[in-house]
Amino acid sequence: MQVVDVPLGDPGPGEVRVRHSAIGVNFIDTYQRSGLYKQAVPFVLGAEAAGVIDAIGPGVTQLAVGDRVAYSARGPGSYAEARVLDVNPVFKLPDSTDFETAAAMMLKGLTVNYLLQRTRPISGLQAGDMIVWHAAAGGVGLIACQWARALGLIVIATAGSDEKCELAKRHGATHAINYRREDVVARVRELTGGRGVKVVYDSVGKDTWERSIECLAPFGLMVSFGNASGPVAPVNLLSLSKNSLYVTRPTLNTHLADRSVGEQMASELFDVVSTGKVKVEIGARYKLDDAAQAHRDLESRNTTGSLILTL
Ligand code: NDP
Repeated sequence: MQVVDVPLGDPGPGEVRVRHSAIGVNFIDTYQRSGLYKQAVPFVLGAEAAGVIDAIGPGVTQLAVGDRVAYSARGPGSYAEARVLDVNPVFKLPDSTDFETAAAMMLKGLTVNYLLQRTRPISGLQAGDMIVWHAAAGGVGLIACQWARALGLIVIATAGSDEKCELAKRHGATHAINYRREDVVARVRELTGGRGVKVVYDSVGKDTWERSIECLAPFGLMVSFGNASGPVAPVNLLSLSKNSLYVTRPTLNTHLADRSVGEQMASELFDVVSTGKVKVEIGARYKLDDAAQAHRDLESRNTTGSLILTL
């Protein structure tokens, strides 16, 4: 990663230019940097930021110059002082939301929203249902614990240290398992009276896939939404047959492709944050020039909550 000056043009049709105040760091940025998610190089990293619109292109009616906004973009480009992008995933911020909080919550909070509200098992999710959420002390994880709690769900969190387990519990998880030293399947079976949970939300990938499948109740849903430990190996479909399981591999961008769906999801996110149901934890701040250190810390599992870059 290098800090360089590159020219920034004016927005074209359907585009806006956002002058950034704070930038979100996400695990997807590390996949793009490492090449797990291929990009033509060189490119500007980053999927998320908050700031002020300083120019709009022809045909943009949803937003205006001077609007305070935040976005989760389809393609990279947010590790920068300013950026031109498609208006569709850019949303106006409530006055009560500061830029740092917005940069820490937009991509991660919208992700938790579509996972908990729109990625559900065939029988739905009702208050009192139990779910497993892996890497629960991370950026996405701490928002998820709180939002799930607000929905009345019982979260069995997993995390990589006892301290992280305690943090997840302080943010709404009812139970927490240190998956580096405990038998996750045995604990989940014990906590659910042998039945298993309705959904496992798994962003760890390679290291947790098999254990996750074993944690599911009959007709349970396996939501594989990330690869923090590496991509999941090819799956033998027969492994799902014992309990008639469902599997999905969703992404936020599919949900944000429709502006009206994105607006609804953003408004639900702003609502849970402004009412205090979800508190966004900024685990660490780095200067934009120190983005490489933010990546090192994130990949070494030494962080909790959301990381942001400041200007
Ligand atoms: P996190 O802050 O959650 O950081 C990743 C965490 O994964 C680490 O802190 C660590 O927690 C855990 N982990 C487990 N194994 C490893 C490993 N081998 N190397 C590194 N970390 C590991 O990141 P984010 O909140 O940014 O993202 C969380 C996950 O959600 C990522 O996998 C990301 O790709 C995914 N995601 C998917 C989206 C989608 O739409 N599909 C959208 C947004 C995020 P611990 O020490 O507790 O194990």
